[in-house]
Amino acid sequence: MRIMKMDPVGAPPPAAFAEAASLARVRKGDLCAGCGACAAIAPGSVTMRMTPPGWLRPVQQGPVSAGQDAMIARVCPGLGERVEAAGRTDDPLWGPYDTMRIGHARDEALRFSGSSGGVLSAVLVHLLETGQIDAVVQTTADPEQPIGNIATISVTEAEVQAAAGSRYAPSAPLAGLNRFLENGKRYAFVGKPCDAVAMRAWQEADPRVRASFPVILSFFCAGVPSQTGGRAVLKALDADPAEVVGFRYRGNGWPGFATAVLRDGTERKMSYHDSWGKVLSKHVQHRCKICADGTGIAADIVCADAWESDERGYPLFTEGSGTSLIVARNAFGREIVEAAVKSGHVEAGPFDVSTLAGIQPGQRERRRALLARLAALRLCLRPVPDYRGLLLWQAARQNPASRNLKNFLGTLRRTLKGRGKRAS
Ligand SMILES: Cc1cc2nc3c(=O)[nH]c(=O)nc-3n(C[C@H](O)[C@H](O)[C@H](O)COP(=O)(O)OP(=O)(O)OC[C@H]3O[C@@H](n4cnc5c(N)ncnc54)[C@H](O)[C@@H]3O)c2cc1C
Ligand code: SF4
Ligand code: SF4
Repeated sequence: MRIMKMDPVGAPPPAAFAEAASLARVRKGDLCAGCGACAAIAPGSVTMRMTPPGWLRPVQQGPVSAGQDAMIARVCPGLGERVEAAGRTDDPLWGPYDTMRIGHARDEALRFSGSSGGVLSAVLVHLLETGQIDAVVQTTADPEQPIGNIATISVTEAEVQAAAGSRYAPSAPLAGLNRFLENGKRYAFVGKPCDAVAMRAWQEADPRVRASFPVILSFFCAGVPSQTGGRAVLKALDADPAEVVGFRYRGNGWPGFATAVLRDGTERKMSYHDSWGKVLSKHVQHRCKICADGTGIAADIVCADAWESDERGYPLFTEGSGTSLIVARNAFGREIVEAAVKSGHVEAGPFDVSTLAGIQPGQRERRRALLARLAALRLCLRPVPDYRGLLLWQAARQNPASRNLKNFLGTLRRTLKGRGKRAS
């Protein structure tokens, strides 16, 4: 069942009411991650719209009460994140965790469809089959615009498999979830790390959310490209958007190819290395460049690509059978993974955490650079997220001072240049 269709691009109606302070701060700092939580907290007054160059952003269409504004301020990942290790192993690059393993879905079809090893999908199937949840909130291709996304509710293994794979495009999986708070059903929620931050904070503030969404799954995330990025991939594939009837960013193999299916049944393909590395990564939103949590710290279980590496430890993107890094962020997540192994849905083995910095260079470098980038933005009086408990100093200390200075000056230069452009 489809639950959300993104509104088309459109100018918001002239506002005859005050802009919510929380949303004003997000707008001023360009801090929106596009999760959709504000639209769920203030339904009717805030909706998610596709805005140029292809971001999902909140548009305020009516008054937001003081209570709703306070809740948005508490939940919005654009405004910050609070983390407590609470006795778990903590790491400046990867955050608090319970256990890390590698593995894959035992079902070969699920493993093939999955982004890496299909473990998130296999865990979802396990949760559905054992009755721990009634349904899954996840993200899949928009049938009307295949490079775009819609949120979807899955209740069968076939539906979970159809939604497997990474979608490198905006998604706002929390928008509309207010409608699921009082139907007595339990949903697993799958989202980007920032979506997981919003879901966890909303859970902590509202017991109905905790009861309705008892399990949070996520994946490592280097950033979300705008829809312009998706269109650029189609252009590079020489695929007319009007002729594209299906589009996968990857999956169906590991890493799998960005694949456009045309109306005449033919396919156009591009490697992951080219689609992400040469096109999509150039279209990532501002909030992602200052993201302190691209590794799903707020989730119960997080998966990532457990890339094979070369002799220097750098990731290789050669096609193969998918393998996921499986991070249980807490004891609850570990118990689910262990049960999914026992029920035969997931195969899992040990993982050497010391290799992770080598195979996730993007996450490593962003985390180490973050403190310098935030300092430059603060100097320019730009609002930044309020990060607590994320060990940013320890991460920055892993960089030589010269690299921190380079990051600081680079962000400063780009911010001042952007300000000049806005002023002219
Ligand atoms: C924007 C983005 C950035 C990523 N960056 C990294 C990275 O830096 N490092 C890394 O190792 N891997 C990254 N990945 C890939 C991610 O690691 C893999 O999806 C992960 O390994 C899980 O693989 P899996 O086979 O277990 O998941 P699958 O079984 O394929 O399940 C994937 C789940 O994610 C959901 N999903 C897909 N796209 C979105 C989306 N845009 N918004 C919300 N939910 C979505 C699907 O609905 C599905 O439930 C990224 C993926 C995305 C979408
Ligand atoms: S990050 Fe989420 S909650 Fe915050 S403004 Fe954007 S859509 Fe709303
Ligand atoms: S990089 Fe961070 S802010 Fe950007 S989409 Fe991923 S989790 Fe959200």
